[in-house]
Amino acid sequence: MSVPTALLVITAALSAMMLAIVWSLRRCGLPGVADWCNANLAVTMALVLFALRGYINDIFSVVAANAALAGALALFYAGCVRFSGGQPRWGRLAAGILATMGVVVVWRYVFDVFTTRVVAVSAFHAVLCALTGITLIRRRPRGRAGNYYLTTAGFALFFATGHTVRGLLSAFSLMGDPYSLQSPGLNTLFLTLGALVMPALTMGAVLMIHDTMVRRLEAIANTDGLTGVMSRKAWDEMAVREIERAGSGRPAPALLIIDIDRFKAVNDTFGHAAGDAVLQAFAGLAGAQIRTTDRLGRLGGEEFAVLLPATRVADALRMAERIRASAEQHVVRVADKGGIVRYTISGGVACLRPGESLAQLSARADAALYRAKLEGRNRILAHDDQVPGTAVPVREALPA
Ligand code: GH3
Ligand code: MG
Ligand code: MG
Repeated sequence: MSVPTALLVITAALSAMMLAIVWSLRRCGLPGVADWCNANLAVTMALVLFALRGYINDIFSVVAANAALAGALALFYAGCVRFSGGQPRWGRLAAGILATMGVVVVWRYVFDVFTTRVVAVSAFHAVLCALTGITLIRRRPRGRAGNYYLTTAGFALFFATGHTVRGLLSAFSLMGDPYSLQSPGLNTLFLTLGALVMPALTMGAVLMIHDTMVRRLEAIANTDGLTGVMSRKAWDEMAVREIERAGSGRPAPALLIIDIDRFKAVNDTFGHAAGDAVLQAFAGLAGAQIRTTDRLGRLGGEEFAVLLPATRVADALRMAERIRASAEQHVVRVADKGGIVRYTISGGVACLRPGESLAQLSARADAALYRAKLEGRNRILAHDDQVPGTAVPVREALPA
């Protein structure tokens, strides 16, 4: 078996393996993955046809093989456009493939000049690889999420350069047919590079798919499904980090725990769906009252928590009081029983003491909340730092 044929067979096998990997990921539902599957299918077919050159008619081993290869790169590019939220221009891609194939057919059946075919095909491949790279760089998400886009773009731009150099060397007759014995070193180099194109690009695509799926799952795990605020797990993790920071010298955070009053009665009177609507409406109301640095989470049921970084108890009480007053005025429209629900909230506030854990801080804010409930609800109490285990009403705790 000649070196070119061996490389083609190895690449076909690699592409088939990459096809199996992207195929296994197609159920993730991300746009573009189906295009990447089809790209690897097309490239595998193209390479098998190329490898059979001399054994089958050139219609298949030259024309169909080049069409499948050009189509494969076009599909890969289209997949990148779709994956990053755009719409591929199929008309332009089809026109590019047809123009390239026109050159291949004419320079096979009218003139039969190998190098002209290579120039046309290399130019089209270089353009597609460059477009793939540029698309991924321009459309990459900001921050760490964009790293795998840049990796794949790097591969694509490297291959665009390789195709350009191959096209130029062929155009200036510095390189001949790989099946003739002309320039074997260069031909082996470019065939080896060519063998890496689709597997390397697909590997980049797989990294992008994995990263996107991990981020989606993280977002689901970190967000409360009903209200859209932080889930308990995410809120706890954030609060532990914030408390650790306070341990290393930053001003102490304050904690506010909020519980909707007599929420069971809302469910019993208006139905569970109305209860859900109240939870959503309250989360929106509280989210709009807090500062951008404050973090709101749903601890469970009708209980919410706000961590206020670097906040003194009097400031936390002022903020909590604003939320309480807004909730008291809040009217939630629901479908059943007249359609209007009013509700109130109770809250407990505590400020982190030196050396305290999240559990200890939460227990003190909870104790204040418990007192607020006992004292008649619809109020915010602060845990009194001077007298552990007691609470003071907000209006007394606030400076005049
Ligand atoms: P209190 O003023 O003492 O807090 O009384 P409460 O009725 O608010 O407290 P209780 O703990 O007795 O009831 C809480 C209710 O919240 C009971 C539960 O069915 C309801 N609940 C918990 N999670 C959800 C939810 O996701 N949606 C709805 N609609 N109701 C929920
Ligand atoms: Mg309640
Ligand atoms: Mg409760």
